[in-house]
Amino acid sequence: MFPHPSDFGNIPYARQDINQSDIDAVAETLRSPWLTQGPAIPRFEEAVGKYVGVRHAVAVSSATAALHIACRALAIGPGDWLWTSPNTFVASANCGVYCGARIDFVDIDSRTYNLSVECLKEKLVLAKKENRLPKVVVPVHFAGQSCEMEAIHGLSKEYGFRILEDGSHAIGGTYQGMKVGDCRLSDITVFSFHPVKIITTAEGGMALTNNPELAERMSRLRTHGITSKPERMLSRPAGEVWNYQQVELGYHYRMTDLQAALGLSQLARLDSFVSRRRQIAENYDQALSSKLIFPWQHPDCRSSYHLYVIRIRKSQCGKTQQEVMEALGKARVGTNLHYIPVYRQPFYEKMGFRSGYCSEAENYFREAVSIPMYPALSDGQQKHVINSLRDILD
Ligand SMILES: *Cc1c(COP(=O)(O)O)cnc(C)c1O
Repeated sequence: MFPHPSDFGNIPYARQDINQSDIDAVAETLRSPWLTQGPAIPRFEEAVGKYVGVRHAVAVSSATAALHIACRALAIGPGDWLWTSPNTFVASANCGVYCGARIDFVDIDSRTYNLSVECLKEKLVLAKKENRLPKVVVPVHFAGQSCEMEAIHGLSKEYGFRILEDGSHAIGGTYQGMKVGDCRLSDITVFSFHPVKIITTAEGGMALTNNPELAERMSRLRTHGITSKPERMLSRPAGEVWNYQQVELGYHYRMTDLQAALGLSQLARLDSFVSRRRQIAENYDQALSSKLIFPWQHPDCRSSYHLYVIRIRKSQCGKTQQEVMEALGKARVGTNLHYIPVYRQPFYEKMGFRSGYCSEAENYFREAVSIPMYPALSDGQQKHVINSLRDILD
């Protein structure tokens, strides 16, 4: 139905920003004794932890891996439910499937496109009656704007679920003046460092928590379920030297030192990335055609603007989403669609989900277009995007 973003234009919808100091940091690591499992990883973990204000950080090979080990640490399994937003990347739901859990979706808020607290409340009331309350809820901070964590946290106390924040879009953003990822109102938060995200390690992710047991468990799951801490070993026959033990089934989800060195260098640039993204958003807010529906900002949030999503409503601007995407493509402006509701994917439809299941998410996805948003987008390029949209709509 939709053209692939790479079919389009010279201005992509997103891309990384790599400078000489990033390159130097990686090159220096290449010359060091450690390509992996070296000193850059704990340094990167400590630096991200300090930046967001959280006690423990576990660097892994992707946010998907982080979501998976987070679900394992939260002990979700067969018979349990994981609830998330339909307006997300499939990984936010797949992590529950990996663990044998069943998945359900909570419809989105019509203004923030985040999981709706009202819908969550209604669904919890019903689920309680039917004795199928979720074990884990995964709020996704869409486009870099935090979900309403205070309300979600309140509901978690009332209904007894754990909270795993998918902050893949949101490093550098704040909620109620505090950094996303501080886990003040959740059990675990994950970040993604994929090249289209706010900072990059090529592939990479991180799981953050204030709970030392969850941190311990996640770092063990990251490396095959192996521990080298004597106090964590299961049995130690007298006189035997055990330098490590596999105590459960884990994975190989480690980040390399090369990636962590890149991550450290990128982290030093994070605040400048976010302020540039916010500047670009402000320019769009002011200059784009008023026939569009603009991204709304919740007063509690300061978005890191991973995405800038406009909505194209035919009754309002005379064009469809498809027409606008195609016309922008011809003008060499890259676009993308974030997101097709996850349950509309064939894999999830096979579980019994049908179109129309979350009506707000479906209304949204028929109108949403992500337009170019990344720190290296120049003023001239942004003008071209703005003028192209004006030509199409006015
Ligand atoms: C990118 C993304 C992920 C997965 O990130 P990877 O690092 O590529 O595994 C998960 N959730 C959301 C919301 C994302 O945007």
